[in-house]
Amino acid sequence: MSSRPSSDALFTPRQRRALAASLLAWYDRHRRELPWRAKPGETPNPYCVWLSEIMLQQTTVATVGGRFERFVTRWPNVAALAVASLDEVLHEWQGLGYYARARNLHACAKEVVARHGGRFPADEAALRALPGIGGYTAAAIAALAFNIPATPLDGNIERVIARLFAVEAPLPTSKPRLRELAATLTPGKRPCDYAQAAMDLGAMLCSPRRPKCVLCPWREACRARALGLAEVLPRKRAKPEKPRRFGVVFWVMRRDGTVLLRRRPEQGLLGGMMEFPSTPWRDMPWTESAAAPEAPLRARWRALAGTVRHGFTHFDLELAVWLGTGPARSKAAGVWVRPADFPSLALPTLMTKVASLAIRATTRLETGAGKRYDRHPMPHLSPHQEEP
Ligand code: SF4
Repeated sequence: MSSRPSSDALFTPRQRRALAASLLAWYDRHRRELPWRAKPGETPNPYCVWLSEIMLQQTTVATVGGRFERFVTRWPNVAALAVASLDEVLHEWQGLGYYARARNLHACAKEVVARHGGRFPADEAALRALPGIGGYTAAAIAALAFNIPATPLDGNIERVIARLFAVEAPLPTSKPRLRELAATLTPGKRPCDYAQAAMDLGAMLCSPRRPKCVLCPWREACRARALGLAEVLPRKRAKPEKPRRFGVVFWVMRRDGTVLLRRRPEQGLLGGMMEFPSTPWRDMPWTESAAAPEAPLRARWRALAGTVRHGFTHFDLELAVWLGTGPARSKAAGVWVRPADFPSLALPTLMTKVASLAIRATTRLETGAGKRYDRHPMPHLSPHQEEP
């Protein structure tokens, strides 16, 4: 493997065996201890593997660590999770974002119990048929839970493979090629350890910036290193700018200190989570006259200074917040909750941002420091839902 490397060409069978062996030897000395991982000699728990893989999608290992342990303490196996309510699961998921994952997690647990007797199937195709399990997750569970020679390709492994083979095509176009190349290296022996080793190599040495090539078990074979491309690969196609959407949130508080909330529809973004009533989110900012009919009840509205900004995968959202005082009795759809009880609700991060802006503002108003809001009084607006 010391001859001049040619970019993106396959290694010989002997070289492949040597690569797998050197990576596994490095892994045996340097493997990461992770709460969901079986220790050497232990049998992996498919429930823990599945749960951690779902949690780790778009969330860092550091964030998932404590949350994973709390989750398995509350629901130690798939049968326990299957009988939990969706609301409990969404609430436990709070702060991890991408709530469709939590809904699919719950649906998947029910299906594993109903169709597979509470045991995850040890087969990639059967795993893929379960809710929330795509190609990557099926391969990861097959390899990590059942020691099947599958090839999961997460961001870490993508980077390692792109560098090892010096693949110059940008992501995501290069993904299928990277998967093919990675599959050529997957060994028949210890596929579970090999997959975890490749993940650890990407996380610990082959980092996005300043890879520690001098410590890498693949340094002699690595084509990007030989070509001086380690830091620039994998290339990424420039992302188009995300569109921006706008909304107005109605923070309605009654004299007893409770605030109006409602549940979002089960399907769609933040499905099943709680929210403060708002206008739809649209492509242009709302005017007062356009937003007013969307209010949940009749009130004297006051626009807060500042906006709440939140980034979703496909768009950025900007929310204005209007304060209003609700009547003691109201037909407005939803529930009235004290801010002190918000932690018991499945409230997404976006809505906790709204709550902190509104609570800060109302506190300033109560102490008299918020007089500036009084310079922006809103007219008594016509509601789309009449009060009694
Ligand atoms: S030699 Fe460097 S670039 Fe190549 S796989 Fe190892 S850490 Fe990554």
